[in-house]
Amino acid sequence: MLRRLPHVISSQSRRLSTASAPAAAASLLRQDRVDLAAAYRLCHSFGFAEGVCNHLTMEVAPDRYLLVPHGLLWSEVGADDLLLLDADGNILEGRGEAEISAFYIHRAVHQAQGEAARCVFHTHMPHATALTVLTDNQLPMVHQNCLKFFGEVASYDRYHGLVHDGDEASRIVDAFGSARCLMMANHGVIVTGETAAEAFDSLYYLEQAAKLVTIAMSTGRPLRPIDPAVCAATAEAMRDERPLYARRHFDALRRTMLRGQDYGQCEGEDLDASRHAPSPYS
Ligand SMILES: [Zn+2]
Repeated sequence: MLRRLPHVISSQSRRLSTASAPAAAASLLRQDRVDLAAAYRLCHSFGFAEGVCNHLTMEVAPDRYLLVPHGLLWSEVGADDLLLLDADGNILEGRGEAEISAFYIHRAVHQAQGEAARCVFHTHMPHATALTVLTDNQLPMVHQNCLKFFGEVASYDRYHGLVHDGDEASRIVDAFGSARCLMMANHGVIVTGETAAEAFDSLYYLEQAAKLVTIAMSTGRPLRPIDPAVCAATAEAMRDERPLYARRHFDALRRTMLRGQDYGQCEGEDLDASRHAPSPYS
């Protein structure tokens, strides 16, 4: 069993009083498990998953990470299935194996970007990944959905094969910088977010944007770039609304999923509460 987490919360919204810290920490860890499991299942639903590969991770306390055990399909991930790891990849809670080499990449991004990267989601989702196999490895700013990422997309332009060492983690972190999205040439994408909702929302809109771009490119006709000044102003307006929109999007999808499917091991008080939560639009 895991020892009590000594310092669970770093963001202001998740800060706890000393007296209530242990119980509240357990509750928040439970909620983090439920949110991340929901993100795995939603990624499966939208076709972002691939076999038993790729990873979505969440830092739930300093140097404490949730990760799917290797071998589970994303469609079957439940809150209680997720492994809790320390920074060395030791399993503190959960059953199964951790894919450590991939975990080290995620850990490096978590540590480099801090609170903004409490969630690090890596996928080979098809349309965004299709852009990474093009020579320029870029998301062109040609549609409103693309502008959600204006100035926040970095490119890692060299493919070095499978990632099995710390040098590759360092190169990925250097290429990522403080961006929110990394296009990894010949490979896939990584997005970061402070919450599972924000990271999932970024994956969703990145794939939507890439889908439109790849459809447009398939015509063979030239793309129509948006003026950079308009890109910047639109992106700025979207940025302020992003956490709220992401939360509402994630909650709506989760309500639908809970209504329509057996949620398996994710069942619990938090999910029951969300099942009966009033609509944010009421
Ligand atoms: Zn990958």
